[in-house]
Amino acid sequence: MSLTLYCHHCRGKRPLSDFVYGEIPKVPDSLTDPVERDLDRGFMHDNVEGVVVERWFCHGGCHRWITVRRDTRNDTVLSPET
Ligand SMILES: [Zn+2]
Repeated sequence: MSLTLYCHHCRGKRPLSDFVYGEIPKVPDSLTDPVERDLDRGFMHDNVEGVVVERWFCHGGCHRWITVRRDTRNDTVLSPET
């Protein structure tokens, strides 16, 4: 069984290998140095346990972004459907 993700632009399930995960991390306002902000953005991830909202890029299909709600505790995609 291969992992799939539903792309509403392609109107169907696509293999997970067709997607690239994207995250736009929040950088604390307390960091004002541009180098520190870049390091925080690149390496300091929240690693939330529970439901998260993520952006995935459909590079194997429509070349558009989709928004996915995923529960990190069991790696279940809540929406869009899988
Ligand atoms: Zn697509």
